[in-house]
Amino acid sequence: MEQKQIVLTGDRPTGPLHLGHYVGSLANRLELEKKYKQYVMIADVQALTDNFEHPEKIRRNVLEVGLDYLAVGLDPDKTTFFIQSMIPQIAELTMFYLNLVTVSRLERNPTVKTEIKDRNFERSLPAGFLMYPVSQAADITIVKGTLVPVGEDQLPMIEQTNEIVRSFNRIYKTDVLHEAKALISNVPRLPGTDGTKMSKSAGNAISLGDSLDDISKKVMSMYTDPDHVRVEDPGKVEGNVVFTYLDVFDSNKQEVAQLKAEYQKGGLGDVKLKRRLIDILDAFIAPIRERREQLAKDPNYVMNVLLDGTKKTLHVAEQTMYDVRRAMLLDYK
Ligand code: ATP
Ligand code: MG
Repeated sequence: MEQKQIVLTGDRPTGPLHLGHYVGSLANRLELEKKYKQYVMIADVQALTDNFEHPEKIRRNVLEVGLDYLAVGLDPDKTTFFIQSMIPQIAELTMFYLNLVTVSRLERNPTVKTEIKDRNFERSLPAGFLMYPVSQAADITIVKGTLVPVGEDQLPMIEQTNEIVRSFNRIYKTDVLHEAKALISNVPRLPGTDGTKMSKSAGNAISLGDSLDDISKKVMSMYTDPDHVRVEDPGKVEGNVVFTYLDVFDSNKQEVAQLKAEYQKGGLGDVKLKRRLIDILDAFIAPIRERREQLAKDPNYVMNVLLDGTKKTLHVAEQTMYDVRRAMLLDYK
């Protein structure tokens, strides 16, 4: 087995994982675990940066996110899971990295900029939120990750990580840190039901544990073409979320092409299309939902998977810090 370290960062346990997470990075992780040494982190510390006043929510969701990972089929014998807050070396490394990054560089990070706007932080922006890309650099480098499967919104984080790695190696005249490459999926940005990026906080997400009833309601409310009023009117396919989903999840490409042609010509109603999508999404989610329900009966098993992986990660993190401290002349004994 090639000794490439794959790391996943992100995935803040502030709510259940959704279809955007699945197509943006989970699908790749399911493949990568077969070939590489893979780490998957549950970002509870990162979740605190915008949820510090809701610790019980994060505590609850660590288990929920763990359930999601196992339900989609990640194998704990192949993938090492860890809980961010239980690896104190990440916090230590973040502290060292903070000297290598300017505040203005963090303020220019496009993902952070958008998230600050979405959350209406304005003058009350927590310092921890502004610097979370630095802690993300520590998440990746603490296990010397070299390949990171992500959606496209995470590209600025990988760029920031590599800038820090280069500065560190240059300043401390070392090569202990390695640059990471982003692995972008073929669906780098899945829209939510309203057409904007699917995200927990936007309330437009279809979760991996959703019931048929949840899926039906959400698909029925999906954004289509506002000018397509009557069935016989010609409709737009571009920007129509239902078609975006059919492109991603419907394996019958020929029928989808026919439906698009019919829709553009006029004579195909939204409801018929949405019914088709409901069936397809339910067929996709049902096996995940069922495994999730089974696993949920044994929460101790799920927590033990996370804790066992965390124990293994601690050893790797200690080794990295040994190398880092030596490079920084902080190796007093
Ligand atoms: P959310 O963005 O829903 O609040 P989060 O902040 O916990 O979730 P992120 O770090 O944004 O999680 O996402 C985890 C991974 O999933 C990242 O690689 C991210 O790019 C990917 N991802 C999240 N949403 C989408 C999406 N709508 N389309 C494609 N990839 C996505
Ligand atoms: Mg996000």
